Amino acid sequence: MAKIPISLKEGKIAEPKNDELIIGIDLGTTNSLVAFANDNVPKVIKHNEKSALVPSIIYFDPEGQIIVGADAKEKLVSEPSRTIYSAKRLMGKSYNDLSAVQELLAYNIVDTNEEELVRVKVGDTYYSPIDLSAKILGELKRTVEKELDREVKKAVITVPAYFNDAQRQATRDAGKVAGLEVLRIVNEPTAASLAYGIGLDADAERIIAVYDLGGGTFDVSILHLQAGVFEVLSTNGDTFLGGDDFDRAIVDFWIDTFKLDIKDGNKSFIQELRVSAEEAKKALSTKNEFEKEVNGVDLRITKQEFELLIQPMISKTINSCEQALKDAELTTTKIDEIIMVGGSTRVPLVKESVSKFFGKAVNDSINPDEVVALGAAIQADILAGNQKGILLLDITPLSLGIETMGGLMDTIVPRNTKIPSKGNRQYTTSVDGQKNLKITVYQGERDLVEHNRKLAEFILKDIPPMPAGLPKIDISFIIDADGVLRVKAKELRSETETSLEIKSQYGISEEEMATMLMDSIKNAKSDMHARGLLEARNEGNSMIKSLEKFLRDNREFLSSEQTDMVENLHQQLINLVAGDDKNKILDKISEINKVTEPLANEALTRIVSKELISDK
Ligand code: AMP
Repeated sequence: MAKIPISLKEGKIAEPKNDELIIGIDLGTTNSLVAFANDNVPKVIKHNEKSALVPSIIYFDPEGQIIVGADAKEKLVSEPSRTIYSAKRLMGKSYNDLSAVQELLAYNIVDTNEEELVRVKVGDTYYSPIDLSAKILGELKRTVEKELDREVKKAVITVPAYFNDAQRQATRDAGKVAGLEVLRIVNEPTAASLAYGIGLDADAERIIAVYDLGGGTFDVSILHLQAGVFEVLSTNGDTFLGGDDFDRAIVDFWIDTFKLDIKDGNKSFIQELRVSAEEAKKALSTKNEFEKEVNGVDLRITKQEFELLIQPMISKTINSCEQALKDAELTTTKIDEIIMVGGSTRVPLVKESVSKFFGKAVNDSINPDEVVALGAAIQADILAGNQKGILLLDITPLSLGIETMGGLMDTIVPRNTKIPSKGNRQYTTSVDGQKNLKITVYQGERDLVEHNRKLAEFILKDIPPMPAGLPKIDISFIIDADGVLRVKAKELRSETETSLEIKSQYGISEEEMATMLMDSIKNAKSDMHARGLLEARNEGNSMIKSLEKFLRDNREFLSSEQTDMVENLHQQLINLVAGDDKNKILDKISEINKVTEPLANEALTRIVSKELISDK
């Protein structure tokens, strides 16, 4: 699983080397924050007198004015269709991926094309999730600029560890739209680790669990720290589990308990329930009871009732912790430190359950809402050149490769490769005079591409006509420091200019990502069988073609018995390739090789003597 070795050689705080200001941004599902380091000490910037947290909510008023943050949150109740929340969930997604979630959202997701990226309709205007995130980033940029009275142009933005390339790219694009050059996209657990500054003591060896339960996502990472280097041994999580779900559980509880009418046209009442539910949840982090009157209904919930509601969700996170430990080949007793990240870790039952599972007290010394932004600011400070000797590395969580004959996955960059990284491999054509080659890029550990995740499709065009097998096509994968993948294909023999077409496969659900590794282990045996069969079939098919060519070229020299024998073997092989017995195909291929060897030798002698004659 994901490994992030981070070498922090000089923990010592250095003098600022220049006055380049790079901000760190935690672009969250529920709340976003901005921070920057001053004299190497990271600080979050307050958005208003009360808080640094900027609710990731955007309100579009009918006159075209846009409000972001707490003021927009106020509009959730009165104008639900003009108030957009959880935009992060829409990043890099198609309508298809979201149809199940749509009913949970009070605004309109536009159903244009199932394959296309979603858009949100507000009034008569359509917004992409990139536009929406850009509004939040723009607000954060303005907040810092106001505070410091200077322009800010560069940023580091964090994303969940499970974000795929499309989502990372969408985040980067959102930064651009907001007028920010995004120098680095950093995984949230990486940032949180940096904020805790673990790794400064070169002698320490520790194993750390980072438990991150935010508003919309859950992640757990197991880190190993040694000699100032720490790596993530494993990660696990659920991209659709967080404090929002706690709120929804409370809303459902109230609807059931108080027999509330929430039929169509009652969207603003649902919103009001949502806001009250969050209020209740937060109150229950310190109190035993909550009570509030909404629309003449006396809404109540006790801590005990709330805990019963969220128990199954917490159990799910504990299962993830268990899985992460298993992947890291560790037991709970090996964990030295547990770090809590994300606003929802304030819920006492969350802390208790995590602490009970690991058998020790959890570490929540840094504000769980701010820890990721603070880490992003430290990363920004490193990039600004203000902290020397610090190297940040990341790795590919899943293998990257392309589809080859028969639907097989050919890995070019294996999982756990440190990034930035480059991998390449050479391929050739399978048909004479082939002009185009379709290259399909996949991510995953399974032998058959159909079980992996399709990332992109390329067409390498204008290959000069050559016999099959002659072109040398070099396919290279380049992964930059942000984990963004670029694929290049070039025909080397002709050295002609080749055009490359990329069709990004946006909107592929990353839901299966976490389970993909498990699947690959579970199915290793059947995959091996399938791969063996496909390879045998590929070999069989190329033998069938060779036999056909041999018959075409040599028919006049063969006796009728020889022709019959070859035709017979040819037919037998065709029948076997259509079946699914790998061994029979391979046995037949070796039989054919043996039987036809003398014939092939005779044919070769004929060709050589013909050449000798023509040479004379
Ligand atoms: P984050 O995505 O890390 O900003 O986490 C936000 C989530 O934490 C939201 O679901 C909040 O409702 C939740 N949250 C914030 N403060 C508290 C609190 N005191 N008790 C329980 N949940 C909280």
